[in-house]
Amino acid sequence: MDYQAYFTQRLTDLHKAGRYRTFADLERIVGSFPRARNYRDGRVEDVTIWCSNDYLGMGQHPVVIEAMVEAARTCGAGAGGTRNISGTTHNHVLLEKELASWCGKEAALLFTSGYVANMTTLATLGTHVPGLVLFSDAENHNSMIEGVRHSRAPKEIFRHNDPEHLDRLLAHYPREQPKLVLFESVYSMDGDIAPIAALCDVAERHGAMTFLDEVHAVGMYGRNGSGVAERDGQRDRITFYQATLGKAIGVIGGFIAASAEAVDFVRSFGNGFIFTTALPPALAAGALASVRYLQIHPELRERHQERAATCKRRLREAGLPVMESSVSHIVPIMVGDAVLCKQASDDLLKRHKIYVQPINYPTVPVGTERLRLTPTPLHDDDTMDRLVAAFVDVWRRLGLRREAA
Ligand SMILES: *Cc1c(COP(=O)(O)O)cnc(C)c1O
Repeated sequence: MDYQAYFTQRLTDLHKAGRYRTFADLERIVGSFPRARNYRDGRVEDVTIWCSNDYLGMGQHPVVIEAMVEAARTCGAGAGGTRNISGTTHNHVLLEKELASWCGKEAALLFTSGYVANMTTLATLGTHVPGLVLFSDAENHNSMIEGVRHSRAPKEIFRHNDPEHLDRLLAHYPREQPKLVLFESVYSMDGDIAPIAALCDVAERHGAMTFLDEVHAVGMYGRNGSGVAERDGQRDRITFYQATLGKAIGVIGGFIAASAEAVDFVRSFGNGFIFTTALPPALAAGALASVRYLQIHPELRERHQERAATCKRRLREAGLPVMESSVSHIVPIMVGDAVLCKQASDDLLKRHKIYVQPINYPTVPVGTERLRLTPTPLHDDDTMDRLVAAFVDVWRRLGLRREAA
């Protein structure tokens, strides 16, 4: 086989379909977020980031940076081993305790990312709980899909956010059969939110465990910020709570929180936990500082929701097709075509110094390509004025669909 020719051919196909992914080469500037420097075509220019998952700006918060610098200076760079072989530092232990209590669970377990947390936990349960059947929401994130696939356990896919369909699928199995229902709270591409109570009602009726991915809610919902399950008063009904330390918490890493027995089970049998080097202690220290800060600063969450609501309202008033699905902090704007979506993103960057990554297949279905905005508490009114004007300009130039205001 001519391997190089094959690689080139497949990449050419991606280019033709408008799905070839390019990365913006950014340099964030502490104290100026959401502004950053963008390295492009041998030049450097200032841009405004409108698509960061550092939802609250904690990635540049002095409290977090200080904790990381201090820990690096006192404890060094890397953890130096897997958790089992000398990689468990006091910073990891403190962070796991804090995460457990934040989420109202007995215990928590760290992973190197949210992806690894999902993949490992689901693969471990599916492999090591005899007869377990996995019931997965149709729009679950790739990390859950891969965990399900890796487990080789039987699976059923229920229609997105549809407790009645879940109920019908569960009813095909005897009550004694072990079952796990997996879903997210905030879905990051449509911005919709799961009916957690209704899904838990159904799961309980059939004797199923629940697994909730709060990656896009952690830090942002609930009185103390642990997520939508907290906001909705449903935490005790979630068997496995999962989230990331890389988005609103602003660092990197992932975790689950659950009963002491369930966490010990994954700790003891989870290959993606056992066989990889622990997070650097400085990252654990930074995440701990961030989590502690977030718990006692609800005003950050209020400002975040206000910014998102204002951004949606202003774009709609200008006739831009903000997707109706979003009841969260995510602001998706429908384009519906991969090439135009990429073009709109390029124009926003080149003409207006606004950086919004196009969201194309396979992240979203073909024909629903979109731009996805994530206003943070640091996107002020002036920044928003410029955003709306830029979108109106790009929409007009490309002849994209607008809606009557
Ligand atoms: C980003 C994401 C993950 C993975 O988390 P990382 O910490 O970035 O690996 C898991 N689930 C969902 C829904 C995500 O969007």
